[in-house]
Amino acid sequence: MNFPAIITEKKLGHPLSDAQIAAFVRGAADGSVPDYQLAALLMAIRLNGMDARETTTLTLEMAKSGDMLHPDVGGVAVDKHSTGGVGDTTTLVLVPLCAGCGAKIAKMSGRGLGHTGGTVDKMESIGMRTDLPEADFLRQIREIGCAVTGQSAELAPADKTLYALRDTTSTVDSLPLIASSIMSKKLASGAEGIVLDVKVGSGAIMPTYEGSLALAKAMVEIGTRAGRHVSALLTGMNEPLGSHVGNRLEVKEAIDILRGESAGPLLTVSLRLGAQLLIASGLAASPEAGEGMLRQALAEGRGLEKLRQMILAQGGDAAVCDHPESLANAPIVRDLPAWKSGCAARMDTALLGYASQELGAGRKQKTDVIDPRVGFIMHCRVGDRLTAGQPVCTLYAADEASLERAEQMIRRAIEISDAPAEKEKLLYALVTGAGVQTL
Ligand code: URA
Ligand code: CA
Repeated sequence: MNFPAIITEKKLGHPLSDAQIAAFVRGAADGSVPDYQLAALLMAIRLNGMDARETTTLTLEMAKSGDMLHPDVGGVAVDKHSTGGVGDTTTLVLVPLCAGCGAKIAKMSGRGLGHTGGTVDKMESIGMRTDLPEADFLRQIREIGCAVTGQSAELAPADKTLYALRDTTSTVDSLPLIASSIMSKKLASGAEGIVLDVKVGSGAIMPTYEGSLALAKAMVEIGTRAGRHVSALLTGMNEPLGSHVGNRLEVKEAIDILRGESAGPLLTVSLRLGAQLLIASGLAASPEAGEGMLRQALAEGRGLEKLRQMILAQGGDAAVCDHPESLANAPIVRDLPAWKSGCAARMDTALLGYASQELGAGRKQKTDVIDPRVGFIMHCRVGDRLTAGQPVCTLYAADEASLERAEQMIRRAIEISDAPAEKEKLLYALVTGAGVQTL
């Protein structure tokens, strides 16, 4: 296969044949095509797009580039995936709650990426293992109903290569590239039910609602055609979802919620997504029924108990379930006072994510080591009234220099206006094989 000819086709905006796409994926998986040619094709795809047939072929070829699992978990294997957010700890809330309702959650999670946080980093921040061998992963699901692990090297290896290239060549924000990246991994992991959380807003991977909706539809269509039960919720990311941003801080918020001591938008979105997982599992007949089951599990402490079991099974420190306040602890803890009175009118959520990265909660380079202690707790949401001097957030920092840099970023990220502002929308739409339902 003449690779420059494939690049030329896409550069001119022509669709690629199935054979050309297969050659591209093979070249990425086995290293036979050099990075500069792969990167050139990625940019041509980013600029000229792919049609539905090309996107489906790309996804299936990427899924087949490594192992295809058929997990035996003693029930319907379900998984959830988010396109990435800030203060977005839904996994640690909904996985234990769904397991507490009898679901079998075989969850593959990622690390933080760019401004977004990653479940693998959060779990490691309390000493949990996230490199479970397949046999241990499946046994844990059969025994306690849930396991969350990082992506193994054998799963969709083409995505590993392409993702690293995209991250460094400004080709992340492409519908066919995101859809194929996410869905190839979900198809390869063997999940029979897949629930997607597609973010909308200033902290989302796609810049517009239309872009997020098109991404959700594409992923649902790919998964449905592959015979999986797939649904996608479009949820708000115009401000951090939870109030806690940073690895141990986010684990703390999830535990606070499972202890019944906190609620708010993070719980709301977790319940909506969890209800879809229960439907995909065949355990609930409707979103309302699913949410009812999850609320019951929450009230009875079954979610907290499952989280405790999961932390223990994966080698972490389960005592944090009894003492979540121990997770909010850094060398410097300091409030950021509101710099004027007014209304929190707008937040640049990506910039808030970068502020937590600046504190050390995320990586600027692949080799950076995360500081599990750092981050911030927000004390306001968009639409809230603020009086000058009142704390906007509390920062948890390792040193004065990083605290100073993060503070500057947070001040730029939050607009305080004289005029009142409306609250941000949290739930936009539900996309299933049957169509789009506006929420
Ligand atoms: N998450 C992924 O796994 N891939 C993408 O392309 C974007 C988010
Ligand atoms: Ca992610």
